[in-house]
Amino acid sequence: MLVPVACSGNHKLLFKTLMKTSIPQTRRRFIQASAAAAAAAASAIQPAQSAEPAAAAKTSRTIQTDVLVCGGGCAGSAAALAAARAGAKVLLVEKAPFAGGIITSVGLPYFDGIAHISTNRIVVRGIALELLSKSGVCAPDAKTVAKHNPTIPNTFEFKLLLDRLFQEHKGNLTVLFNSFVCDVRSSGGRIQSVTVANKDGLVTVQAKTVIDCTGDADVAAWAGAPFEQNAEVQPLTLHFRIGNVQNVPGIGGQCRTALVEAQKRGELPFYYGPGVMFMYGKNEIYVHGVRVPCNPTDAADLSRAEMQGRADAHAMFRAWKKDVPAFAESYFLEAYPWIGVRESRRIIGQHVLSEDDLMKSRRFDDAIATGCWYLDLHPNKTVVGSANDFDPKKVQPEPYDIPYRSLVPQKIGNLLVAGRCHSATRGAHASTRVTVTAMAMGEAAGTAAAMALNEKTEVAALDGVKVREALTKKNAGPFTDA
Ligand SMILES: Cc1cc2nc3c(=O)[nH]c(=O)nc-3n(C[C@H](O)[C@H](O)[C@H](O)COP(=O)(O)OP(=O)(O)OC[C@H]3O[C@@H](n4cnc5c(N)ncnc54)[C@H](O)[C@@H]3O)c2cc1C
Repeated sequence: MLVPVACSGNHKLLFKTLMKTSIPQTRRRFIQASAAAAAAAASAIQPAQSAEPAAAAKTSRTIQTDVLVCGGGCAGSAAALAAARAGAKVLLVEKAPFAGGIITSVGLPYFDGIAHISTNRIVVRGIALELLSKSGVCAPDAKTVAKHNPTIPNTFEFKLLLDRLFQEHKGNLTVLFNSFVCDVRSSGGRIQSVTVANKDGLVTVQAKTVIDCTGDADVAAWAGAPFEQNAEVQPLTLHFRIGNVQNVPGIGGQCRTALVEAQKRGELPFYYGPGVMFMYGKNEIYVHGVRVPCNPTDAADLSRAEMQGRADAHAMFRAWKKDVPAFAESYFLEAYPWIGVRESRRIIGQHVLSEDDLMKSRRFDDAIATGCWYLDLHPNKTVVGSANDFDPKKVQPEPYDIPYRSLVPQKIGNLLVAGRCHSATRGAHASTRVTVTAMAMGEAAGTAAAMALNEKTEVAALDGVKVREALTKKNAGPFTDA
């Protein structure tokens, strides 16, 4: 039937006009009446030919907050929780429809950096340990973990955990998912506003402090803070899973041979590993062997890498299905939504953490976190076997300090940068970039933002020693020696 029951303004008008115009006796009269009514309605709602076309309704609004956290990944989730728990009014903005960053969008379950590699002594507590224990991996007050690089059992449940923790603070923590930070206005050494694109349109956010946890230092770079990015950065990786694989002895070697052959046939440009792990289920493998060279801060190149990552993942699956008997009945389960970026921009902050700082385990008065991962630098080439060019033991530092000043950019007073885009040399960053170390930096940044609010000062002017003390009071911060 012609009668629309729902509900744009135009449809309502047509419906009312139809009802008023006639109650038709015959089908023919009804159709005539309907056509006349539709024409009347249309002429009532169409703009004149010469008028400008009516723009779709777009909200243009301004949000004011104490702390704006950009990016809800490892660092950003911890930053938002820390600032909200310290009483600040916080807005967290994340481009994905969920939080967790690499863990949830690239499907990476590792909590690397939580513990010393040889003793398994926990060196990061606070929110990172809370997340690990609430994922059921260890006790909340654990001093050691069973493995130095524990994994959480389920990355979907990690999304739920973060949702729940955010909702516990809904009085002063607002989360905007599907929201992309797309512009920054700065003047007078401060960020004046950040623009976010989402379903509301363009939203202007004015914050006393901004914490950049985008991984790519989008905010810092667009605000004019100095940064660097190597011409060649570590390769990008799309993680994927294959179901119904038989876990038979020697499967790793067979997978490796199949990839060597696939590459010879020209089906696979690069790979490493094979990076095949029975991680989540008895007959299900999780693969981290894709390797795509890319400039991740170039939108077109990133799009090319997403397509290449998908093509390579499926080429690996096909090669195994063809050549490895254990894959005979297997099926491609899923690839995670995004290809993972290991490295892009790094800010040049008040202190640039160096390989020397790490390898000598240099101590800083303003230490706000402890790192302990090795210098984990993936090359842009096929590596059969280990993921790295070098022996990790030769670049394995003892637990080391991360100073507050490595989160503080130059030139912008109300900005902190936490996670894999903080201030470090490329070599040091190869260690500090891991998940738990990023969470520890995020917690420190969130704590500092709330302190700056209370002290009515800028985060850049805060004494890092006091930030350390505030973290220590809540059993967070550095545990380099403890
Ligand atoms: C393939 C791969 C494998 C890795 N393997 C390991 C490993 O085994 N163990 C380990 O510990 N670490 C590993 N890492 C490193 C580690 O996962 C990351 O470096 C770590 O997650 C960094 O945390 P982060 O918070 O800085 O970044 P992320 O966790 O990436 O979070 C950044 C967040 O910001 C959001 N964002 C970005 N730009 C915008 C924007 N403009 N607007 C709004 N939101 C935005 C993103 O969607 C994301 O949620 C790996 C990384 C990759 C890519």
